[in-house]
Amino acid sequence: MSAVILDGKALGLRIEAELAERVSALKESGVEPHLAVVLAGDDPASHVYVRNKQRACERCGIKSTRIDLSNDVTQKELMQVVANLNSDDSVHGILVQSPTPEGTDELAITEAIDPSKDVDGFHPANLGKLVMGQTDGLLPCTPAGVIRMIQDADIDLSGKKAVVMGRSRIVGMPLALLLAQKGIDATVTIAHSRTQDIAEICRSADLVVAAIGRPATVRTDWIKPGATVIDVGINRVIDESRASGSRLAGDVEPSVKDIAGHMTPVPGGVGPMTISMLMSNTVRAAEMRLA
Ligand code: NAP
Repeated sequence: MSAVILDGKALGLRIEAELAERVSALKESGVEPHLAVVLAGDDPASHVYVRNKQRACERCGIKSTRIDLSNDVTQKELMQVVANLNSDDSVHGILVQSPTPEGTDELAITEAIDPSKDVDGFHPANLGKLVMGQTDGLLPCTPAGVIRMIQDADIDLSGKKAVVMGRSRIVGMPLALLLAQKGIDATVTIAHSRTQDIAEICRSADLVVAAIGRPATVRTDWIKPGATVIDVGINRVIDESRASGSRLAGDVEPSVKDIAGHMTPVPGGVGPMTISMLMSNTVRAAEMRLA
């Protein structure tokens, strides 16, 4: 058996085409959705991520503004940039690219963003709504993208067992909450670095989500035949057969596709969906302002 591959790139483009129509409608009402991206420092991966987000804005017709700051920006300066964007009525979404430079407090910056412009969905007010079962606001992009892929593939998780490997504030924990919400109705286990018998726990699951940042950790013999496997991990691994000397790898061993029912590729799975959900949140933030 070979898994159905869940193509996040194709689904992401479909979502962006729908968003472009909502953007046109907003523009007709005199509102131009506008995402401000703050990029501090010279981390090469962050530059690539920001460029990809700006390209997605172009595809959707969303205005994007990039604010470049040096690696030695202070916490006070970063907070001032956020305060300025909070009070700028032309801006609907604010994203401060992670990681922020050493010596700055990323959590404090997240908390300083106006929750109605928090298109990353990481502000405590937005995460709190998620805990309360309110899922119509600004949801964290990667977890929302995973749910959208599962729904698009018509995978029914009602009453089924789901294992989320990873308990981070931005992926694992909010995703576990979304999977357990009414309407999705999975029975969720959250696994982490202290979990015992993780292979056995995964083997009993109908859905395994790996969000740990450890290449090829999830093995073929951890997966129940026909289960859905979502690989959130993005790891750069050495590959001397490539001109660059490296390639991207997920948290799941590629041969899992021989046993899973559905599986996401890396790259081209959850990554593009995360960007599409950022676009979706920006449009939603603009629509909420209009409402
Ligand atoms: P993180 O904050 O480092 O959290 C990793 C989590 O994995 C922690 O909860 C950790 O447990 C757990 N963990 C580590 N090793 C484990 C193991 N062997 N077994 C079980 N659990 C283990 O990472 P993150 O920000 O959530 O990101 C996770 C991965 O997803 C990374 O590769 C990241 O690059 C990727 N990512 C991808 C996207 C995308 O768009 N595709 C978006 C965000 C992140 P403890 O809590 O016990 O330490």
